[in-house]
Amino acid sequence: MLVVMRKDANQKEIEIVCKEIKEMGLAAHPIPGAQRTAIGITGNKNMVREDKIMLLPGVKEIIHVTQPYKLVGREFKPDDTVIETSNVKIGGKKIVIIAGPCAVESREQIIETAFAVKEAGAHILRGGAFKPRTSPYDFQGMGEEGLELLAEAREKTGLLIVTETIDPDNVEIVEKYADILQIGARNMHSFSLLRRVGRSKRPVLLKRGLAATIKEFLMAAEYIMSEGNPNIILCERGVRTFGDHTRFTLDLSAIPVIKELTHLPIIADPSHATGKWQNVTSMARASIAAGADGVMIEVHPHPEFALSDGSQSLTPENFNKLIKEMKIITEAIGKEM
Ligand code: PEP
Ligand code: MN
Repeated sequence: MLVVMRKDANQKEIEIVCKEIKEMGLAAHPIPGAQRTAIGITGNKNMVREDKIMLLPGVKEIIHVTQPYKLVGREFKPDDTVIETSNVKIGGKKIVIIAGPCAVESREQIIETAFAVKEAGAHILRGGAFKPRTSPYDFQGMGEEGLELLAEAREKTGLLIVTETIDPDNVEIVEKYADILQIGARNMHSFSLLRRVGRSKRPVLLKRGLAATIKEFLMAAEYIMSEGNPNIILCERGVRTFGDHTRFTLDLSAIPVIKELTHLPIIADPSHATGKWQNVTSMARASIAAGADGVMIEVHPHPEFALSDGSQSLTPENFNKLIKEMKIITEAIGKEM
Protein backbone atom coordinates (compact mmCIF):
# COMPACT_ATOMS: atom_id res chain seq x y z
CA MET A 1 0.00 0.00 0.00
CA LEU A 2 1.19 3.48 -0.80
CA VAL A 3 0.26 6.73 0.90
CA VAL A 4 0.66 9.53 -1.63
CA MET A 5 1.31 12.90 0.00
CA ARG A 6 0.12 16.19 -1.47
CA LYS A 7 2.71 18.21 -3.41
CA ASP A 8 2.78 20.85 -0.69
CA ALA A 9 3.05 18.39 2.22
CA ASN A 10 5.84 19.33 4.60
CA GLN A 11 8.40 17.17 6.44
CA LYS A 12 6.47 17.31 9.70
CA GLU A 13 3.32 15.97 8.00
CA ILE A 14 5.34 13.14 6.42
CA GLU A 15 6.77 12.24 9.83
CA ILE A 16 3.32 12.19 11.42
CA VAL A 17 2.05 9.75 8.77
CA CYS A 18 5.10 7.49 9.29
CA LYS A 19 4.55 7.55 13.05
CA GLU A 20 0.89 6.62 12.66
CA ILE A 21 1.82 3.71 10.35
CA LYS A 22 4.37 2.44 12.88
CA GLU A 23 1.83 2.65 15.67
CA MET A 24 -0.37 0.28 13.64
CA GLY A 25 2.50 -2.25 13.87
CA LEU A 26 3.58 -1.74 10.24
CA ALA A 27 6.73 -0.44 8.55
CA ALA A 28 6.77 2.97 6.81
CA HIS A 29 9.15 3.68 3.91
CA PRO A 30 9.22 7.33 2.76
CA ILE A 31 10.02 7.57 -0.96
CA PRO A 32 10.85 11.13 -2.04
CA GLY A 33 9.93 11.76 -5.69
CA ALA A 34 10.46 14.62 -8.13
CA GLN A 35 6.92 15.90 -7.60
CA ARG A 36 5.85 14.59 -4.21
CA THR A 37 6.70 12.14 -1.47
CA ALA A 38 4.99 8.78 -1.17
CA ILE A 39 5.15 6.51 1.86
CA GLY A 40 5.22 2.78 1.27
CA ILE A 41 3.59 0.53 3.86
CA THR A 42 4.77 -3.05 4.33
CA GLY A 43 3.51 -5.63 6.79
CA ASN A 44 0.11 -7.23 7.33
CA LYS A 45 -2.29 -5.32 5.09
CA ASN A 46 -5.26 -6.19 7.30
CA MET A 47 -3.80 -3.97 9.96
CA VAL A 48 -3.86 -0.77 7.89
CA ARG A 49 -6.49 1.69 9.16
CA GLU A 50 -6.96 3.58 5.90
CA ASP A 51 -9.66 5.86 7.27
CA LYS A 52 -7.32 7.08 10.01
CA ILE A 53 -4.44 7.76 7.59
CA MET A 54 -6.70 9.60 5.13
CA LEU A 55 -7.61 12.09 7.86
CA LEU A 56 -4.00 13.12 8.52
CA PRO A 57 -2.84 16.50 7.14
CA GLY A 58 -0.93 16.39 3.85
CA VAL A 59 -2.32 13.02 2.69
CA LYS A 60 -3.67 12.99 -0.87
CA GLU A 61 -4.62 9.35 -1.46
CA ILE A 62 -3.91 5.71 -0.69
CA ILE A 63 -3.01 3.38 -3.56
CA HIS A 64 -3.24 -0.40 -3.32
CA VAL A 65 -0.10 -1.99 -4.78
CA THR A 66 -0.97 -5.09 -6.78
CA GLN A 67 2.51 -6.64 -7.20
CA PRO A 68 3.94 -8.93 -4.50
CA TYR A 69 7.20 -6.99 -4.55
CA LYS A 70 6.54 -3.64 -2.96
CA LEU A 71 9.65 -1.58 -2.29
CA VAL A 72 11.45 -2.57 -5.49
CA GLY A 73 8.36 -2.09 -7.69
CA ARG A 74 7.67 0.84 -9.98
CA GLU A 75 4.24 1.19 -8.43
CA PHE A 76 5.95 2.24 -5.20
CA LYS A 77 8.59 4.44 -6.83
CA PRO A 78 8.07 5.57 -10.43
CA ASP A 79 11.47 7.31 -10.77
CA ASP A 80 14.58 5.29 -11.69
CA THR A 81 16.96 4.56 -8.82
CA VAL A 82 20.44 5.89 -9.50
CA ILE A 83 23.10 4.44 -7.21
CA GLU A 84 25.83 6.91 -6.42
CA THR A 85 29.30 5.58 -5.80
CA SER A 86 32.41 7.70 -5.52
CA ASN A 87 33.41 7.34 -9.17
CA VAL A 88 30.31 6.32 -11.12
CA LYS A 89 26.53 6.56 -10.99
CA ILE A 90 24.77 3.28 -11.70
CA GLY A 91 21.38 3.54 -13.37
CA GLY A 92 21.65 6.94 -14.99
CA LYS A 93 22.42 7.97 -18.55
CA LYS A 94 25.94 6.59 -18.30
CA ILE A 95 26.65 2.93 -18.98
CA VAL A 96 28.69 1.31 -16.21
CA ILE A 97 31.44 -1.16 -17.06
CA ILE A 98 32.50 -3.76 -14.51
CA ALA A 99 35.42 -5.94 -15.55
CA GLY A 100 38.01 -8.27 -14.11
CA PRO A 101 38.85 -11.91 -13.65
CA CYS A 102 36.47 -14.57 -12.45
CA ALA A 103 38.67 -15.07 -9.39
CA VAL A 104 41.59 -13.29 -7.80
CA GLU A 105 44.51 -15.68 -8.34
CA SER A 106 47.67 -13.72 -7.53
CA ARG A 107 48.97 -10.17 -7.04
CA GLU A 108 50.41 -10.03 -10.57
CA GLN A 109 47.17 -11.27 -12.13
CA ILE A 110 44.79 -8.86 -10.36
CA ILE A 111 47.02 -5.77 -10.60
CA GLU A 112 47.79 -6.37 -14.26
CA THR A 113 44.09 -6.91 -15.03
CA ALA A 114 43.04 -3.85 -13.02
CA PHE A 115 45.38 -1.55 -14.96
CA ALA A 116 44.34 -3.10 -18.29
CA VAL A 117 40.58 -2.77 -17.74
CA LYS A 118 40.96 0.74 -16.36
CA GLU A 119 42.97 1.77 -19.39
CA ALA A 120 40.23 0.37 -21.64
CA GLY A 121 37.51 2.34 -19.81
CA ALA A 122 36.12 0.16 -17.00
CA HIS A 123 34.74 1.87 -13.88
CA ILE A 124 34.64 -1.03 -11.44
CA LEU A 125 36.96 -4.00 -10.92
CA ARG A 126 35.45 -7.43 -10.29
CA GLY A 127 37.13 -10.57 -8.96
CA GLY A 128 36.01 -13.33 -6.63
CA ALA A 129 37.90 -14.00 -3.40
CA PHE A 130 35.28 -16.47 -2.16
CA LYS A 131 34.07 -18.63 -5.03
CA PRO A 132 30.87 -20.69 -4.81
CA ARG A 133 31.97 -23.55 -7.09
CA THR A 134 29.79 -26.37 -8.36
CA SER A 135 32.45 -28.88 -7.28
CA PRO A 136 33.99 -28.87 -3.79
CA TYR A 137 37.28 -29.96 -5.41
CA ASP A 138 37.59 -26.86 -7.62
CA PHE A 139 39.52 -23.71 -6.65
CA GLN A 140 37.50 -21.98 -3.93
CA GLY A 141 39.20 -18.60 -4.06
CA MET A 142 42.01 -16.95 -2.08
CA GLY A 143 39.74 -15.77 0.76
CA GLU A 144 40.86 -12.74 2.76
CA GLU A 145 44.19 -12.61 0.97
CA GLY A 146 42.23 -12.14 -2.26
CA LEU A 147 40.29 -9.27 -0.66
CA GLU A 148 43.56 -7.62 0.36
CA LEU A 149 44.82 -7.86 -3.20
CA LEU A 150 41.59 -6.32 -4.51
CA ALA A 151 42.02 -3.44 -2.05
CA GLU A 152 45.58 -2.99 -3.28
CA ALA A 153 44.34 -2.90 -6.89
CA ARG A 154 41.80 -0.23 -5.90
CA GLU A 155 44.49 1.83 -4.25
CA LYS A 156 46.72 1.62 -7.32
CA THR A 157 44.07 2.27 -9.99
CA GLY A 158 41.23 4.13 -8.27
CA LEU A 159 38.74 1.52 -9.52
CA LEU A 160 35.99 0.51 -7.11
CA ILE A 161 35.74 -3.18 -6.33
CA VAL A 162 32.86 -5.63 -6.43
CA THR A 163 33.32 -9.09 -5.02
CA GLU A 164 31.11 -11.94 -3.93
CA THR A 165 30.00 -12.78 -0.42
CA ILE A 166 28.78 -16.32 0.04
CA ASP A 167 27.05 -16.63 3.40
CA PRO A 168 25.83 -14.43 6.25
CA ASP A 169 28.95 -15.05 8.39
CA ASN A 170 31.15 -14.08 5.45
CA VAL A 171 29.56 -10.64 4.87
CA GLU A 172 31.46 -8.83 7.62
CA ILE A 173 34.88 -9.58 6.17
CA VAL A 174 33.81 -8.85 2.57
CA GLU A 175 32.20 -5.52 3.41
CA LYS A 176 35.42 -4.50 5.15
CA TYR A 177 37.18 -4.46 1.77
CA ALA A 178 34.56 -4.29 -1.01
CA ASP A 179 32.73 -1.24 -2.35
CA ILE A 180 29.88 -3.38 -3.71
CA LEU A 181 28.79 -6.79 -2.40
CA GLN A 182 27.94 -9.40 -5.01
CA ILE A 183 25.33 -12.10 -4.42
CA GLY A 184 25.89 -14.91 -6.88
CA ALA A 185 23.28 -16.72 -8.92
CA ARG A 186 23.56 -19.81 -6.70
CA ASN A 187 22.74 -17.73 -3.64
CA MET A 188 19.83 -15.72 -5.00
CA HIS A 189 17.52 -17.82 -2.83
CA SER A 190 19.68 -17.69 0.32
CA PHE A 191 17.24 -15.61 2.28
CA SER A 192 19.37 -15.21 5.40
CA LEU A 193 22.23 -13.90 3.21
CA LEU A 194 19.84 -11.51 1.43
CA ARG A 195 18.60 -10.21 4.78
CA ARG A 196 22.18 -9.79 6.02
CA VAL A 197 23.32 -7.71 3.02
CA GLY A 198 20.07 -5.78 3.40
CA ARG A 199 21.52 -4.51 6.67
CA SER A 200 24.83 -3.53 5.06
CA LYS A 201 25.77 0.02 4.11
CA ARG A 202 27.28 -1.23 0.84
CA PRO A 203 25.37 -1.42 -2.45
CA VAL A 204 24.50 -4.97 -3.51
CA LEU A 205 24.89 -6.52 -6.96
CA LEU A 206 22.25 -9.27 -7.06
CA LYS A 207 22.56 -11.90 -9.79
CA ARG A 208 19.53 -13.72 -11.15
CA GLY A 209 19.28 -17.37 -10.08
CA LEU A 210 20.02 -20.03 -12.68
CA ALA A 211 16.31 -20.87 -13.02
CA ALA A 212 14.63 -17.94 -11.33
CA THR A 213 11.56 -16.27 -12.77
CA ILE A 214 11.50 -12.47 -12.87
CA LYS A 215 9.09 -12.50 -9.94
CA GLU A 216 11.44 -14.66 -7.85
CA PHE A 217 14.35 -12.41 -8.81
CA LEU A 218 12.50 -9.30 -7.72
CA MET A 219 11.31 -10.95 -4.51
CA ALA A 220 14.97 -11.67 -3.70
CA ALA A 221 15.69 -7.94 -4.18
CA GLU A 222 12.69 -7.21 -1.95
CA TYR A 223 14.34 -9.25 0.84
CA ILE A 224 17.36 -6.95 0.66
CA MET A 225 15.40 -3.72 0.46
CA SER A 226 12.97 -4.68 3.21
CA GLU A 227 15.94 -4.71 5.61
CA GLY A 228 16.72 -1.10 4.74
CA ASN A 229 19.28 -1.24 1.91
CA PRO A 230 17.91 0.67 -1.11
CA ASN A 231 21.06 0.31 -3.25
CA ILE A 232 20.56 -2.82 -5.33
CA ILE A 233 21.87 -3.46 -8.83
CA LEU A 234 20.18 -6.38 -10.59
CA CYS A 235 22.20 -8.57 -12.94
CA GLU A 236 20.85 -10.76 -15.74
CA ARG A 237 23.46 -13.53 -16.13
CA GLY A 238 21.61 -16.10 -18.19
CA VAL A 239 19.19 -18.85 -17.23
CA ARG A 240 18.92 -22.60 -17.88
CA THR A 241 17.10 -23.58 -21.06
CA PHE A 242 17.22 -26.59 -23.39
CA GLY A 243 19.82 -24.76 -25.49
CA ASP A 244 23.31 -26.19 -25.08
CA HIS A 245 25.10 -24.03 -27.65
CA THR A 246 25.96 -21.61 -24.84
CA ARG A 247 26.56 -22.18 -21.12
CA PHE A 248 23.25 -20.49 -20.20
CA THR A 249 20.78 -18.45 -22.25
CA LEU A 250 21.12 -14.70 -21.80
CA ASP A 251 17.54 -13.59 -21.27
CA LEU A 252 17.66 -10.26 -23.07
CA SER A 253 13.91 -9.78 -22.80
CA ALA A 254 14.29 -9.74 -19.02
CA ILE A 255 15.99 -6.35 -19.35
CA PRO A 256 13.04 -4.29 -20.70
CA VAL A 257 10.60 -6.29 -18.55
CA ILE A 258 12.58 -5.57 -15.39
CA LYS A 259 12.87 -1.90 -16.39
CA GLU A 260 9.09 -1.78 -16.57
CA LEU A 261 8.47 -3.57 -13.28
CA THR A 262 11.11 -1.99 -11.07
CA HIS A 263 12.99 1.26 -10.59
CA LEU A 264 16.29 -0.55 -9.90
CA PRO A 265 19.20 -0.51 -12.34
CA ILE A 266 19.91 -3.71 -14.24
CA ILE A 267 23.17 -4.80 -15.83
CA ALA A 268 23.98 -7.85 -17.96
CA ASP A 269 26.72 -10.45 -17.59
CA PRO A 270 27.32 -11.94 -21.04
CA SER A 271 30.42 -13.81 -19.80
CA HIS A 272 28.63 -16.27 -17.52
CA ALA A 273 25.60 -16.35 -19.84
CA THR A 274 27.47 -17.49 -22.93
CA GLY A 275 30.43 -19.27 -21.33
CA LYS A 276 32.43 -18.58 -24.50
CA TRP A 277 34.66 -15.58 -25.00
CA GLN A 278 33.84 -15.57 -28.73
CA ASN A 279 30.19 -14.72 -27.97
CA VAL A 280 30.70 -12.19 -25.19
CA THR A 281 31.09 -9.01 -27.26
CA SER A 282 28.00 -9.49 -29.41
CA MET A 283 25.83 -10.20 -26.35
CA ALA A 284 27.31 -7.20 -24.51
CA ARG A 285 26.31 -5.00 -27.45
CA ALA A 286 22.85 -6.55 -27.50
CA SER A 287 22.42 -6.00 -23.75
CA ILE A 288 23.14 -2.30 -24.09
CA ALA A 289 20.77 -2.07 -27.05
CA ALA A 290 18.08 -3.78 -24.95
CA GLY A 291 18.41 -1.08 -22.28
CA ALA A 292 20.85 -2.50 -19.73
CA ASP A 293 22.50 0.08 -17.48
CA GLY A 294 25.85 -1.62 -17.79
CA VAL A 295 27.72 -4.87 -18.26
CA MET A 296 29.96 -7.11 -16.21
CA ILE A 297 32.72 -8.79 -18.22
CA GLU A 298 35.32 -11.37 -17.23
CA VAL A 299 38.83 -10.39 -18.32
CA HIS A 300 42.02 -12.34 -17.68
CA PRO A 301 45.55 -11.51 -18.91
CA HIS A 302 46.11 -15.22 -19.71
CA PRO A 303 42.73 -16.98 -20.05
CA GLU A 304 44.45 -20.26 -20.91
CA PHE A 305 45.92 -20.41 -17.38
CA ALA A 306 42.86 -19.12 -15.49
CA LEU A 307 41.88 -21.16 -12.43
CA SER A 308 38.20 -20.63 -13.24
CA ASP A 309 36.11 -19.59 -16.24
CA GLY A 310 39.06 -19.19 -18.62
CA SER A 311 36.96 -20.16 -21.64
CA GLN A 312 34.66 -17.17 -21.18
CA SER A 313 37.35 -14.65 -20.26
CA LEU A 314 38.44 -11.96 -22.69
CA THR A 315 42.06 -10.97 -23.03
CA PRO A 316 42.70 -7.26 -22.34
CA GLU A 317 43.06 -6.80 -26.10
CA ASN A 318 39.64 -8.30 -26.81
CA PHE A 319 38.15 -6.31 -23.94
CA ASN A 320 39.45 -3.16 -25.60
CA LYS A 321 37.65 -4.12 -28.78
CA LEU A 322 34.46 -4.82 -26.83
CA ILE A 323 34.54 -1.34 -25.28
CA LYS A 324 34.95 0.28 -28.69
CA GLU A 325 32.03 -1.69 -30.15
CA MET A 326 29.84 -0.99 -27.14
CA LYS A 327 30.51 2.74 -27.49
CA ILE A 328 28.90 2.74 -30.92
CA ILE A 329 25.71 1.14 -29.59
CA THR A 330 25.72 3.39 -26.50
CA GLU A 331 25.81 6.53 -28.62
CA ALA A 332 23.23 5.17 -31.05
CA ILE A 333 20.66 4.85 -28.24
CA GLY A 334 21.44 8.27 -26.74
CA LYS A 335 23.42 7.12 -23.72
CA GLU A 336 27.01 7.76 -22.65
CA MET A 337 29.92 5.60 -21.62
C1 PEP B 1 30.71 -14.67 -10.83
O1 PEP B 1 30.27 -13.57 -11.20
O2 PEP B 1 31.90 -14.86 -10.58
C2 PEP B 1 29.79 -15.81 -10.70
C3 PEP B 1 30.13 -16.87 -9.98
O3 PEP B 1 28.66 -15.66 -11.38
P1 PEP B 1 27.24 -16.39 -11.20
O4 PEP B 1 26.90 -16.29 -9.75
O5 PEP B 1 26.33 -15.58 -12.07
O6 PEP B 1 27.40 -17.79 -11.68
MN1 MN C 1 33.18 -16.62 -13.30
